[in-house]
Amino acid sequence: MHLVDGRPPDRRDAAAPRTQRTPRSPSRVAMLSMHTSPLEQPGTGDAGGMNVYIIELSRQLAALGTEVEVFTRAVSSKLPPTAEIAPGVTVRHIPAGPFEDIGRAELPAWLCAFTANVLRTEAGQDAGWFDLVHSHYWLSGQVGLSAARRWGVPLVHTSHTLAKVKNASLADGDRPEPELRLHGEQEVISGASRLIASTETERRHLVDLYGAPPDTVDVVAPGVDLDVFRPAGDGDERAARARLGFDPDTQLLLFVGRIQPLKAPDVLLAAAAELIRRDPERRSQLAVVVVGGPSGSGLERPDALVKLAAELGITDIVHFQPPVPHDQLASWYRAATAVVVPSHSESFGLVAVEAQACGTPVVAASVGGLRTAVDHGTSGVLIRGWEPADYATALERILTEERWRRHLAAGARARAAGFGWTATARGVLRSYQAAIAPSAVAV
Ligand code: UDP
Repeated sequence: MHLVDGRPPDRRDAAAPRTQRTPRSPSRVAMLSMHTSPLEQPGTGDAGGMNVYIIELSRQLAALGTEVEVFTRAVSSKLPPTAEIAPGVTVRHIPAGPFEDIGRAELPAWLCAFTANVLRTEAGQDAGWFDLVHSHYWLSGQVGLSAARRWGVPLVHTSHTLAKVKNASLADGDRPEPELRLHGEQEVISGASRLIASTETERRHLVDLYGAPPDTVDVVAPGVDLDVFRPAGDGDERAARARLGFDPDTQLLLFVGRIQPLKAPDVLLAAAAELIRRDPERRSQLAVVVVGGPSGSGLERPDALVKLAAELGITDIVHFQPPVPHDQLASWYRAATAVVVPSHSESFGLVAVEAQACGTPVVAASVGGLRTAVDHGTSGVLIRGWEPADYATALERILTEERWRRHLAAGARARAAGFGWTATARGVLRSYQAAIAPSAVAV
């Protein structure tokens, strides 16, 4: 295997032996997702894009011949030890800490227990059970450092979010990421064999802010299930609105995601109020729908948006919808006149791509991965900053100029067509191959 002095290969070790000429894909990957299970409903608490990412990536990897076992913390004693969620994809529930949901801040205390039980699980299998570890988020990265070293295999790590980036763009009411995470994240980024970034911007952050060697960072865009997220068969958004119980002539502005200051759903509410201020007659036609549940620091003030809607005098047009099962979200995107993603920080922004795949234009903050997901002026509009009036102006044009909306809707479909999970899995496999044979494969 690729052991150097009993350790996994150091990606800075220029003398690493050239052992492999033909790219080899791993046959079985340990996918680590300690803090959130891929089986959880995304859009609330700690479950979001990462959960969707892990399921879709794992399914596609299995379809391409690489089996996946996902290790996640058992949040209930009633969970089965293993659950097969697709052919070749098994979720393993690992006991570590209380059998209940606990906040992310409490999880570092259970890292040792989780790591020990992951190692114990592997020890019960044939030797060489996994030939690669892929960790997600820094907590799992910490587990990955130990597991990869113990098993003598490479560690590939995906950060999903970066503390330094988050701390540089905090919203009002958000707490900075703690020193422990900054330190732990740095250790993982420095110790992994390879890193996967969703965009060139994230790659630059990994290199410039965390000192990752540029040639060890692979950019692989996440995807969207283009069979599920597609425009309505009849192409009729009016019918889509009627199916959800809205007047077909309603102009529907949609927010989808975990409700917390970082995601800035307040900007959409304030923009809607501004639209009504500019044209009071619009009120009877306008609906704002917020799909998702509280998360992060949003958990401390779960009724903050309800209060804001009342303060803005728009309670009558704002609808709060609890998290919707992932494959049913397409109905909401199709019914929307525009989807608004005003996040303060977003490493990619799956919601933006899913909405576009359904033929719905996106108005988004010009930050992070949203700059990749949305093609400004073609599939949506990117806005610098969080001034509600700017969002209102962009939305006003979409609401009032049908030709502009149709232009963006066509561009949105075209933009999303470039993001599929199979392409993501192929990109990730190339990264795995490079990690297994660092000197033989160029990604
Ligand atoms: N999501 C969902 N149901 C909901 C709300 C969100 O399935 O009610 C999914 C959504 O489809 C998307 C993910 O949660 O795939 C959110 O990912 P995104 O990258 O937009 O944000 P993140 O949660 O990673 O910050």
